[in-house]
Amino acid sequence: MNGHFVISLDYEIHWGVFDKKTVDDYKENLTNVSKVVDRLIEMSDKYNVKLTFSTVGFLFAKDKEDLLKHIPKNQPTYKLKEFNPYPLLEHIGNNEHDDPYHYALSKIKEIRDNRNHEIGTHTFCHYYCHEDGQTVEQFDADINAAKQIAAPLGIDLKSIIFPRNMIDADKAVDQPYLEVCQKHGITSFRGKEKAYIYNIHTTKFYHSWYFFKLLRLLDSYISVTGPNTYKVEQINKNKAVNNLPSSRILRTYTPKLKFLEPLKVRRIKKAMTYAAKHNEMFHLWWHPHNFGAQTDENFNNLEAIFKTYQELNKTYGFKSETMTGLSHIIDSTKA
Ligand SMILES: [Zn+2]
Repeated sequence: MNGHFVISLDYEIHWGVFDKKTVDDYKENLTNVSKVVDRLIEMSDKYNVKLTFSTVGFLFAKDKEDLLKHIPKNQPTYKLKEFNPYPLLEHIGNNEHDDPYHYALSKIKEIRDNRNHEIGTHTFCHYYCHEDGQTVEQFDADINAAKQIAAPLGIDLKSIIFPRNMIDADKAVDQPYLEVCQKHGITSFRGKEKAYIYNIHTTKFYHSWYFFKLLRLLDSYISVTGPNTYKVEQINKNKAVNNLPSSRILRTYTPKLKFLEPLKVRRIKKAMTYAAKHNEMFHLWWHPHNFGAQTDENFNNLEAIFKTYQELNKTYGFKSETMTGLSHIIDSTKA
């Protein structure tokens, strides 16, 4: 099995940040998401790269009536109310035309009709599996709603990105969540990076221990944790739902750290090259809204990465796949 290049995009617009920022707080980035998605598709098609858009279920609604029709009865009962997006539904507009921050049906149809890329799920309501108060039954109802709202569009959701990466692939407590995914026909998810500094998000240290945050930032520019690439057929040998762990987040262009941008891109190219040479997977991800400001600079970085992909494809047969495409390949090695 040759090496693979996977890109997943957490497509959420305001639903990914509703508990941290208002639309006005983050307006430039959110307003440009639709243009960013167009440009992502255009550039990916040019370089023959496949994207997986892991899309929040709310964005599929035609209008508010359609959205309300699909919301599950059993909604997440988070202890901290600010994580619950449902009260916000009272305040959003009626459809994509008058509220492009909370609906995206036309864009979803464009991605679908392009046919090179995948539409997966980022859960129906941007569901937080590690928050206190919610239950696995509520997660089940949420995934069911996501499947139901996508089905009439001819979209069968088969891969998942857990919001805020709240999944610990090897912990017993998270297995029921993966079983729910399996029950709904989801065949792959994006796990966390294997390196330790990426696996403390959900522990008590996360909010107070800035040291790890700093290490993760540093790791974007120089190798602290190595390439973070994976022999996916080996790690998924006995797994019902394939784990396609993250290799790296593509951090947004930062004007203040402009001088470090070449290092950031170089770090990604080196890890891709390692994956191509060793027949492993390199999985890059970010959010379209990350490209909503400094858009040209962000796309310049991406184009440099895509050019490297093209070379690695020619030299080593390194291949771009959607999450579900790669999951099929992994499953064929299990037979
Ligand atoms: Zn998200």
